[in-house]
Amino acid sequence: LGRHPTPQAGPEPVPGVRTIIAVASGKGGVGKSTLAANLAVALARAGKRTGLLDADIYGPSQPRMMGVSERPKSPDGKTIIPLHAHGVTLMSIGLMLKEGEAVVWRGPMLMGALQQMMGQVAWGELDTLIVDLPPGTGDVQLTLSQRYPLTGAVVVSTPQDVALLDVRKALDMFDKLKVPVLGMVENMSAYICPNCGHEAHIFGHGGARAEAEKIGIPFLGEIPLDLKVRVAGDSGAPVTVTHPDSPEARAFAGIARRL
Ligand code: ADP
Repeated sequence: LGRHPTPQAGPEPVPGVRTIIAVASGKGGVGKSTLAANLAVALARAGKRTGLLDADIYGPSQPRMMGVSERPKSPDGKTIIPLHAHGVTLMSIGLMLKEGEAVVWRGPMLMGALQQMMGQVAWGELDTLIVDLPPGTGDVQLTLSQRYPLTGAVVVSTPQDVALLDVRKALDMFDKLKVPVLGMVENMSAYICPNCGHEAHIFGHGGARAEAEKIGIPFLGEIPLDLKVRVAGDSGAPVTVTHPDSPEARAFAGIARRL
């Protein structure tokens, strides 16, 4: 008697992990995973012990972006040993699936997978765990926010209005779940022509900053649209690793400093 912990409602801490920051977006394809990978690497380069959890169940892209493909081992069949890449401790649902395998799970299975990745992975001592969420407002966001003590969420958007409408829904979700929004990031803000230096705003410009100011949340910074970012992401080393002195890498580092 008395040996079993009393089941408790409310968030359960992840042992050894000091802060958990979720990277979220209203919709897919706006650069959420790119931001999560580059923030994790930027934090690690700044000397912080950093983990990256790819919880984008339906489209895990961190194995490709961080250049890992090995299936994590579990010597005792319970604890999962995370991988390491570019100074970051890493775990992705994608590493537990076969290549090309689709996730067709219902809510409870999703929750089980998320709990395994948070609670059974031997994260070790981490200053920050970055969680790459799926886009939108679904089960994973709900479970993560209710079960774990999230320090806050960073919300990324392109400058387009359509993306911003979805962003408002994501912000509303975090408000309802009482997760502090640490700020907004505008991705694909400006394209600078490598030949003539002209700055073009392919998806518009300034929408995320204006929205952040309107609703009174911090604006954390903007990332230019640049071929290097995409090529680096596809090559398995984020632009923060391949071109640490580029304006894009500096923009990511600036955002990481503000977290
Ligand atoms: P999400 O996680 O929101 O679905 P990704 O991070 O996977 O989006 O980005 C979608 C695609 O856009 C990827 O191919 C990525 O490399 C590319 N991308 C993201 N941000 C930029 C950027 N600032 N410049 C160029 N390409 C980018």
